[in-house]
Amino acid sequence: QAKTLGRGRFEFFDVELRERVQRRLGLEQDLRDAVRRGKLWAAYQPVVDLRSGRMVAVEGLLRWTHPVNGPVSPTEFIPLAEESDLINLLGSYVLEETTRELAARRAAGIDVELKINLSTRQLDDPEFVPAVKDALARTGLPAKALCLEITESALMRDSNAAGEVLDALRGLGVRLAIDDFGTGYSSLAQLQRLTLDTLKIDRSFVTGLGTSADAAAIVNSIIAMAHAVDLTVVAEGVENETQLKLLRDLGCDQAQGYYFGKPMPADELWRADDRSATGR
Ligand code: C2E
Ligand code: MG
Ligand code: MG
Ligand code: MG
Repeated sequence: QAKTLGRGRFEFFDVELRERVQRRLGLEQDLRDAVRRGKLWAAYQPVVDLRSGRMVAVEGLLRWTHPVNGPVSPTEFIPLAEESDLINLLGSYVLEETTRELAARRAAGIDVELKINLSTRQLDDPEFVPAVKDALARTGLPAKALCLEITESALMRDSNAAGEVLDALRGLGVRLAIDDFGTGYSSLAQLQRLTLDTLKIDRSFVTGLGTSADAAAIVNSIIAMAHAVDLTVVAEGVENETQLKLLRDLGCDQAQGYYFGKPMPADELWRADDRSATGR
């Protein structure tokens, strides 16, 4: 009796595991197809300067709508892509698409910086630095108008391997940002050594502003620390006026969040920017 029950259970787990693996493989195959067929696209979210109120940058964020499952979050498909060479394909797509878009906008007189996210897997790819150089040369986007974001946790995991590549990128003149700051464990010394330009405060701390004294204290000290090593500070995930006001009072430089605008297709973003420019 116990033996059959045991076996039954075992098979149950086996089936469940197999299904999970199959779903993952299926999703990976679908993602590969989507890349090949040009079904992925980049959404753009405005980044606003807190002194002037102007949009000074946009962050390009990858979007994928699965034909059956609907929109899949990058927090699900990026880690999946990172387990294979797919991440390099996605990375090339984002780099090419967004630099082309921003170069075209600059030609039309819109001067905003482009921010895109990097996986540390891309930093391991010997083709990566040449690809960045090539994208800049081809589109004519100035290097200083491109800012590459790497999450704090990824940087800390891989800081030795990443060091040389970051130096090479810096050599090209591109800017570097540490993303999701506060979720990893970097020290002031590490921050200084990495010679970054921008620090983005993770949304989890911004969310608590106005309701949690701890959150305000943490944000305050992150800003002070970042300014001490000459970094521009961007707050992520600003959703209301209270958070905005507190960030201004704390001396934060820039902000991004649903309060200013959600990530949206390029043409929608530029239309919205036109309206706010004429309304000013
Ligand atoms: P991230 O780089 O920290 O990007 C900010 C995320 O916060 C975006 O999620 C954005 O939609 C979301 N967000 C912005 N403002 C608000 C707000 O006010 N409230 C809330 N609730 N959320 C807000 P998204 O687009 O889902 O991307 C998630 C993460 O996936 C990104 O976090 C980034 O780490 C990664 N990712 C996205 N696109 C790429 C890419 O092209 N390459 C790589 N390597 N990673 C990417
Ligand atoms: Mg980012
Ligand atoms: Mg972030
Ligand atoms: Mg994030």
